[in-house]
Amino acid sequence: MPRPIQATIHTGALRHNLARARAAAGDARVWAVVKANAYGHGIERAFDGLRGADGFALLDLDEAQRVRALGWRGPVLLLEGVFEPRDLELCSRLDLWHSVHCDDQIDMLAAHKTHVGHRVFLKMNSGMNRLGFRPQDYRAAWTRLNALPQVEEISLMTHFSDADGPRGIAHQLAAFQAATQDLPGERSLSNSAATLRHTGTPGLVSDWVRPGIATYGSAPDYPENDAAGWGLEPAMTLAARVIAVQPLQPGDTVGYGSGFVAEQPMRIGIVACGYADGYPRICPTGTPVLVDGEPGRTVGRVSMDMLTIDLTPFPQAGPGTEVTLWGRAARGRCLSIDAVARSAGTVGYELMCALAARVPVQVAD
Ligand SMILES: *Cc1c(COP(=O)(O)O)cnc(C)c1O
Repeated sequence: MPRPIQATIHTGALRHNLARARAAAGDARVWAVVKANAYGHGIERAFDGLRGADGFALLDLDEAQRVRALGWRGPVLLLEGVFEPRDLELCSRLDLWHSVHCDDQIDMLAAHKTHVGHRVFLKMNSGMNRLGFRPQDYRAAWTRLNALPQVEEISLMTHFSDADGPRGIAHQLAAFQAATQDLPGERSLSNSAATLRHTGTPGLVSDWVRPGIATYGSAPDYPENDAAGWGLEPAMTLAARVIAVQPLQPGDTVGYGSGFVAEQPMRIGIVACGYADGYPRICPTGTPVLVDGEPGRTVGRVSMDMLTIDLTPFPQAGPGTEVTLWGRAARGRCLSIDAVARSAGTVGYELMCALAARVPVQVAD
């Protein structure tokens, strides 16, 4: 019998969340962001749920090839553009659109021999200070690109650092608008948080939005809002079973470092999921789980292949009982990946991306 741990990718939830992002995006077309192997869901597994998107945005040529291999003939965008000149050959061959964020990438395009006109997304650094041309350099970059015979169409793009938080998008939007006012071309600005929270902001015109995390059913601004509040459904479930039970007396301890000490008689369930499966080791005692669909908690340290939960409130539970680490459970219950991430001091993004390769994954509706 295989080890009793299982991840499930919910095609119906992906479809639902994509529709939710689309509804929030007004008339904009929607890039489904599938970088990092579809945020850990697996591009091939997520494809069916996301094929209603207008295009796929990602980072790696390898991922772009996989999207094409699935039969997708629509737009594919490389969010960071190319890394070396020969990447452009694949862009020409596979008809990939690519972002241009620095002069080196323009130099590469200028030297690229092709009969295929390239569609590029010129990236502005409007304040996040990662990639892109500064507002004062943007027009010159646009002019240079526009003069290249290799370039067929230029779209304008920037990325928000604070769409999920109190600072918001106004300062970046103002910088973007001021520098692009009279430039032609389609605009792409909003990630999930901007799409959900800021659509309708005057001046936030997006021809293409780029939702990632929302399509996977996690709230970009948790805990201010949660996924259910945004009408999103978890697209990934991680569940495992109890493989042993330990009765504890007061003073007994659990796990490495005796990280938990019983103060009264307890029953501890040993669950077949550990940090080598992608469950964060840093999750402290009290991290939420669902035991056969009912709210429960972890106790003690997470180890490589196991974690431990308090079964005292569940006298009927024992070996074989299903424990949901995040996602959907019995009785229609859900445990948001965001709640578990918060317990680990991180965000849902990191947990879903870290699902380990050794976990068997099934696709369900
Ligand atoms: C990852 C990424 C997105 C998607 O962000 P979410 O917060 O997951 O919606 C959008 N745009 C760019 C440029 C990205 O790198």
